[in-house]
Amino acid sequence: MSQKFIPLSVPNLKGRELEYVTHAVETEWVSTGGTYVTEFEQKTAEYVKSKGAVSCQNGTSGIHIALEVCGITGEHEVIVPTLTFIAAVNPVKYVGAEPIFMDCDDSLTIDTDKLLEFCEKKCTFIDGKLINNKTNKHIKAILIVHVFGNMADMEKIMDIADKFNLKVVEDATEAIGTYYSKGKYKGKYAGTIGDVGIYSFNGNKIITTGGGGMIVSDDENLLKQAKHLTTQAKSDTLYYTHDQIGYNYRMTNLQAALGIAQLEQLEQFIATKKENYNLYKKYINSIDGLTILDFRDDIRPNYWFYALYCDEDYSLNRDEIIKYLSSKNVQSRPIWGLISDQKPYLGSQTYKIEKAKNYLKHIINIPCSSNLSKKDVLYVINCLKDSKTL
Ligand SMILES: *Cc1c(COP(=O)(O)O)cnc(C)c1O
Repeated sequence: MSQKFIPLSVPNLKGRELEYVTHAVETEWVSTGGTYVTEFEQKTAEYVKSKGAVSCQNGTSGIHIALEVCGITGEHEVIVPTLTFIAAVNPVKYVGAEPIFMDCDDSLTIDTDKLLEFCEKKCTFIDGKLINNKTNKHIKAILIVHVFGNMADMEKIMDIADKFNLKVVEDATEAIGTYYSKGKYKGKYAGTIGDVGIYSFNGNKIITTGGGGMIVSDDENLLKQAKHLTTQAKSDTLYYTHDQIGYNYRMTNLQAALGIAQLEQLEQFIATKKENYNLYKKYINSIDGLTILDFRDDIRPNYWFYALYCDEDYSLNRDEIIKYLSSKNVQSRPIWGLISDQKPYLGSQTYKIEKAKNYLKHIINIPCSSNLSKKDVLYVINCLKDSKTL
């Protein structure tokens, strides 16, 4: 019997999604005005323990707004990681600023040693501003990404940000549910430690609204501005007066109806993903040349994506594994191409990109959906074992 297709990461909509969406349709509140939108904002803020949350159309628009409310403009530069999804960095260009690309460390998140070294050696801190020696421009923010549901080293990042007066934007699009279980930030969720954080509810994320996003912050003023900008910057709703250039970025009630039902199941999804992660790890780490990468040990991750590292001891290389798994009806994919290598960013400044190049060659993501059965996981493991004998 042929194996059914095992996708990489797909939605899991077996909770109250249909009930809430049906209610939205029956009451004819389908656009941005319905009560599910504000309820979803409140529930998300409660879940991650932030002062508030502002919904938006997707993670990308959330990052765009986050940069605007942090005051990033064409006069500024923003430090970003090179090993991530391009949607994390494009918004830097939307606001007219320039990115400076950093390497990753073994957590796949931004290398904080190189980050500090760059700020100290390649910049000058003067009058409360970090100035890039190469361009003479003001570096105003660091945009960090909590890759695959892991947590970037927020203790070090916040220290560096304090030292050089930098805003911190947390792209937590992949990491809703991840929090520190130890240390200075114990109990703090990914997205709630810097100035502003963003979640995504795209179809491949741990919870989904089809497409959608959320901006969180503990700064009420930033939240207020974010709400204003995502809703066309209307200063008077009756007379249509506008005091800024705003956007039509607010989430719809249909999306939010899905989101509330998904949020109700998030802890369950994390529990399943954790079990599957541990199962993969137990068997795969005993195959020569294959390792499932760890998450940081001072956090409770959301286990969104599993990173399989393949080295030369394995019978197949990265691309051969992907092809082979595909022939077995298992979807996998390489980690993202480095953003500093993408056409629009070829002229951008980079700083000592080394580890990211290596990880690019060796990392594959394997199926991790929250509805993946134990049997499916064992099937993928067996495929990887078998390929040794090809
Ligand atoms: C998914 C993702 C985004 C963008 O989120 P969308 O909701 O798809 O716009 C941004 N950054 C990273 C790291 C992502 O994985």
